[in-house]
Amino acid sequence: MLNAALAGEQDVPEHADHDPFHFDYVDSDEPNALALCGDGHSFIGVTIPLLDRLWQSASRVADSADVATLLNMQLSEAERTSMNVQQRIAVGVFRLELLFIVLHEWTHVVHGHVRPDDAGFANEVLARNDGNIEQQARESDADGYAAYHMLENIINGPERAHVVSVLAMGDKTVDVQEKLLLCCFIIAVAAYLFTCEPQEVNSETAYTFQHPPQALRMNLLMKSVKTWCYQNRQTLHEWLTLQPFQRLMNLVATATWGMNGGDDWSEQIRFLKSPDGMAYAERVEVALIEQIKQGYRN
Ligand SMILES: [Zn+2]
Repeated sequence: MLNAALAGEQDVPEHADHDPFHFDYVDSDEPNALALCGDGHSFIGVTIPLLDRLWQSASRVADSADVATLLNMQLSEAERTSMNVQQRIAVGVFRLELLFIVLHEWTHVVHGHVRPDDAGFANEVLARNDGNIEQQARESDADGYAAYHMLENIINGPERAHVVSVLAMGDKTVDVQEKLLLCCFIIAVAAYLFTCEPQEVNSETAYTFQHPPQALRMNLLMKSVKTWCYQNRQTLHEWLTLQPFQRLMNLVATATWGMNGGDDWSEQIRFLKSPDGMAYAERVEVALIEQIKQGYRN
């Protein structure tokens, strides 16, 4: 399914030159996703431990009564026989998590973050301390571009029919469907980020990360989500204020509690609200805007 989608890639003049895509699973001891260019291919890989972790987090979300209430599926007998509510949520959230991760890696290629025969690549899941602000900006760029394309795909594109069917939204109005599709995307990204162990951040370590701390990643990504909504669905843009966003985040934090080693993001948020933290976050955002302005051709 992913290879078919990647093969249908349109020629986008703003993208960096790259070879055709190939997706595959990778055997490894570590949860990770990667993008590599070489030998005439742009390779996107997801390791088996990461798939296991995504399925675990999606299953946790599926156990949440609050998520079931939000989705309010009214299953017919036939629908229930094929998959019950919990199974549908797990399948739907897992698929959205995986699509987001693949689009994040895809961005690393089409935005020229990965060059042919690059030796090293980031670990997308385990925290590392050999990064810098430029690299964090590239990771945020990959998050934002992936989020934008996810929404385009699940609300305006071919993925919509599939998610609507899995999550049994067919009987709901278009407006309700779209709000729920947006919620499901936010839930899936949050579920993925909540499974990564929160990085311990202070005014020194912040500048050495490969990815911004999860709380900042989510914030920057949501700017891209807001932009898509503003350009495509004014009603969603007006609806998506801080309150519903925080409600979704709390819901997923509760559902996935303990998966990341038992820490929440409160330390990160405390730092990001401090003067040092605000200065750091601004550096990341300025670097991100600079990269977007420069373009990705070469
Ligand atoms: Zn990345």
